[in-house]
Amino acid sequence: MMKAQYGKEVIRTLIDEAFSEGREFLMEHESKAILKSHGIPTTREKLAQDENEAKEFAKDIGFPVVLKICSPEIVHKSDVGGVSLGLKTPEEVEKSYRDIIKNVSEKKPEAKILGVLVQEMAPKGHEVIVGGLRDPQFGPVVMFGMGGTYVEVLKDVSFRLSPLSKKEAINMIKEIKGYELLKGRREEPIDLNALASVITRVGDIMLDFSEVKELDLNPLIVHHRGIMAVDARIILSPR
Ligand code: ADP
Ligand code: MG
Repeated sequence: MMKAQYGKEVIRTLIDEAFSEGREFLMEHESKAILKSHGIPTTREKLAQDENEAKEFAKDIGFPVVLKICSPEIVHKSDVGGVSLGLKTPEEVEKSYRDIIKNVSEKKPEAKILGVLVQEMAPKGHEVIVGGLRDPQFGPVVMFGMGGTYVEVLKDVSFRLSPLSKKEAINMIKEIKGYELLKGRREEPIDLNALASVITRVGDIMLDFSEVKELDLNPLIVHHRGIMAVDARIILSPR
């Protein structure tokens, strides 16, 4: 498990900065800093400001890589052509960098672009979603469901109040219908333990930072051994 790299002060500064810019959400890399501070495994990544930097960072991180637009005005990156997966060479990185900037400037010309995030590509696995929200009556709640269309179409999700034990998190995972897919029939089962840890830790983040209104790990990729949050979004409520 990754060691905490960011103290609470650093996280508070990130949140304060967002508020001072009039923003009520944290960008992917900022949200991931909070995950890291609570030991949730995330992608290695670096923010590049031009094609050459992107190529250099891709070599450091190791191919294949993923490129993603980084802008305080863009919440859904794929919708604006801002995500490029499985890039295997420096040439592909260079071309994708240009394509992403072009797509975003066409679809959202007013958006301020901070650069392009170069990030490690997670190996194939099961995509799941873990969320945190606040119930006006009961306080912090965690949500678990399958990734992709499962959540939207089938509403196959489970909820618990935070804080919750690992055992409760495991029950929460086993409760959804999609668990049949996660168990694996011919392929290996998922790392249930790693997934349960992430769920309990999301609950802890909701308790530790009252400014966090909603937290979405969408998706988290679960492997036979290990897990990785590849996208994260945090919505803040003003103090
Ligand atoms: P969006 O802002 O559109 O939600 P995401 O960061 O979730 O953008 O990327 C879109 C999709 O690309 C994800 O749902 C996931 O399937 C895939 N993806 C994103 N990042 C990675 C990664 N680092 N490794 C593997 N797959 C990824
Ligand atoms: Mg996403």
